[in-house]
Amino acid sequence: MVRGDSQVSEVLLSLDGVSRVFGDEVKVHALRDVSLEIRAGDFLSIVGPSGSGKSTLLGLLGVLDLPSSGAVRIRGTDMADLGDAERSRMRGSAVGFVFQQFHLIPHLTALENVETALLYRGLLAGRRRQRALDALEQVGLGNRHGHTPIQLSGGEQQRAAIARAIVTDPLMVLADEPTGALDSQNAANVMDMFAELQSPERAICVVTHDPEVASRTQRRITMLDGEIVADELLDVAGGVR
Ligand code: ADP
Ligand code: MG
Repeated sequence: MVRGDSQVSEVLLSLDGVSRVFGDEVKVHALRDVSLEIRAGDFLSIVGPSGSGKSTLLGLLGVLDLPSSGAVRIRGTDMADLGDAERSRMRGSAVGFVFQQFHLIPHLTALENVETALLYRGLLAGRRRQRALDALEQVGLGNRHGHTPIQLSGGEQQRAAIARAIVTDPLMVLADEPTGALDSQNAANVMDMFAELQSPERAICVVTHDPEVASRTQRRITMLDGEIVADELLDVAGGVR
């Protein structure tokens, strides 16, 4: 696979021969011997049928889970070599998550929701607030920061959740079906948002079963039965390069 300028961009995360098996008596091989490199600047999608291992893979990329065998490394550090506290710290600093159902806290404003990602970082309240406001500005919600989730549309709630994911300035933004609860217009808006948030320092990774959503990304990884069966670069029209 020829990868344009990727030779010069840093490998943020690598999976080396990773398997994940669930269950004791009846074993489910959710991932089988998966190897993968994610580089700074990647804007990628993970597609595949239900049960093919997409969420399991995302959980490993986001250090929510550890492999049964093989290694997951972030900037060269094997996640299995870290203690629980160090791993949590790594997750907090390296990864921003976006979920299908937004997972905003209902009684907090958009601003307060975004601020939650910055708690326990030793920031002064004023600084925390400013960073949260900046993140909301970035997703076009600056003027709605005082609204609670119920006062926002689905698309706006997802943008608030994206602001929460990026306010920590993570290496990777990981999204599991981020458009799954949205109509096609709002889904397109959310993908516009991710495209805008793309930067040479960061990787954005979107799990989706929607080919339209995947076609907006630049690299598409296809999973089947716990294996990567294709890893393709896409052109701007969503076709394979
Ligand atoms: P996808 O996100 O592509 O739908 P998943 O990664 O959720 O797929 O699941 C892959 C396989 O692993 C499925 O067969 C699923 O039932 C199984 N699986 C996922 N998580 C668990 C778990 N915590 N315990 C048992 N089996 C699981
Ligand atoms: Mg899933």
